[in-house]
Amino acid sequence: MNRIEVKEALNLEAGENLVNLKGWVRTKRGSKNVSFIALNDGSTINNIQVVAENNIAEDILKLIHTGASISVNGKLVQSKGSGQAIELLAESIEVLGVANPEEYPLQPKKHSLEFLRENAHLRFRTNTFGAIFRVRHAMTFAIHNFFNQKGFSNVHTPIITGSDCEGAGEMFAVSTLDKVNTPLTEEGGVDYTQDFFGKETNLTVSGQLEAEMAALALGKVYTFGPTFRAENSNTSRHLAEFWMIEPEVAFADLNEDMDLAQDMLQYLCSYALNHCREDLEFLDKRLQEEEKHKKKEERQEMGLIEKLQFVIENDFERITYTEAYDILRNSKPNKKKKFKYLIEEWGADFQSEHERYLVEKKFKKPVIITDYPKDIKAFYMRMNDDGKTVRAMDVLFPGIGEIIGGSQREERLDILKSRMQEMDIPEHELWWYLDSRKFGTVPHSGFGLGFERLVLFVTGMGNIRDVIPFPRTPKNADF
Ligand code: ATP
Ligand code: MN
Repeated sequence: MNRIEVKEALNLEAGENLVNLKGWVRTKRGSKNVSFIALNDGSTINNIQVVAENNIAEDILKLIHTGASISVNGKLVQSKGSGQAIELLAESIEVLGVANPEEYPLQPKKHSLEFLRENAHLRFRTNTFGAIFRVRHAMTFAIHNFFNQKGFSNVHTPIITGSDCEGAGEMFAVSTLDKVNTPLTEEGGVDYTQDFFGKETNLTVSGQLEAEMAALALGKVYTFGPTFRAENSNTSRHLAEFWMIEPEVAFADLNEDMDLAQDMLQYLCSYALNHCREDLEFLDKRLQEEEKHKKKEERQEMGLIEKLQFVIENDFERITYTEAYDILRNSKPNKKKKFKYLIEEWGADFQSEHERYLVEKKFKKPVIITDYPKDIKAFYMRMNDDGKTVRAMDVLFPGIGEIIGGSQREERLDILKSRMQEMDIPEHELWWYLDSRKFGTVPHSGFGLGFERLVLFVTGMGNIRDVIPFPRTPKNADF
């Protein structure tokens, strides 16, 4: 007998044919004469109700608890209950795997997200995480779709990098050297010539520099890979291992870069609305429940679906760093000293509280800040004529803060070199990068979108640890 999935079964009509469904038991309830089993197989957020009457042996039913896996042969019938149109009247049930209720951590009740993080190996089996990871998949697919339709080539940039000046954060070392008897140089440092690659290597913090090389030949490229940052930031927005999408476009200036960023984010939000409707409706309700427990002034004004719709329908606000600085300096929370970090001198980086003020209070829509002070941005960003700011842009989203960071790249060899000197980046380390400015250089731009921050936004979740299957954060690499 052919197995069908729950998603398909729920869309069928009642019929005489026997069908087979397999899945995991969410709940079982009932009386002596009849049991009702909610069965889920991950194909949809919805369960199918299995009705087991007296024809199913008592000793089989006794093995069926929350978490058990079963295979059911039966007929799809019109449901007598109110919750569903169709249910499965069992003719025979095979228990594939038991789940002892004394030991199985998931009970048919609401568990806290913290508890589920400690049971990350099982949390896929809850409604919330089922929905999150189906949406995460849909976003992966949609990203490749978006770039493919636009004629971009996907490039795989290295995960192990030989340059420690990618400039985006602290790195994790990759080494096979003996940790106890580490070979040392005459000066007493680690002798990396004896290491696996014959030099110091790390896990990548960004694929951008390599992606630029590809863009300067293929025209339009993007990367979508894992990135690693050894920053000790224990926030709800940072992971030590996360995924990043980095498009890079030759002949594009910063305005075109911003257009691309807005286009992509709007495409992804509308893809989610069109392809993940049931999961989003569930997550929307979940969010509304969560909001009820918050203080009034901390509540989000929009529901999840409303928020996605809003992003699709509104152009993002574009302002310069200096304009944002003026707004923030004269803002109420700054004057009343409500910000943790007060805005005083021009040139300081904005904190998440400032970004969220601009997005949630001032403009009430996504904001793109451009032209940051050069000292708080990376060496490869294009210098403006004022000599003080660079052609950078950050896209800020409600509830998230920075979701994208990008820039027009410095394509002028002499200026790039002097910026590297200013920032103590040795030229010989990046000889290959400099070559691209020596031979056929062109204006080009790109950005990095943090994939988990996107999934946070689209699912309405509050903690980045809940949108990646097995999160890596300081002091935590379980599973
Ligand atoms: P932040 O200021 O939020 O720490 P960043 O400026 O260091 O981020 P970039 O180097 O600009 O980040 O990286 C591009 C994008 O990657 C960011 O806009 C963000 O969406 C994402 N990102 C950066 N660091 C992390 C992290 N530790 N965990 C998850 N996503 C991240
Ligand atoms: Mn950034």
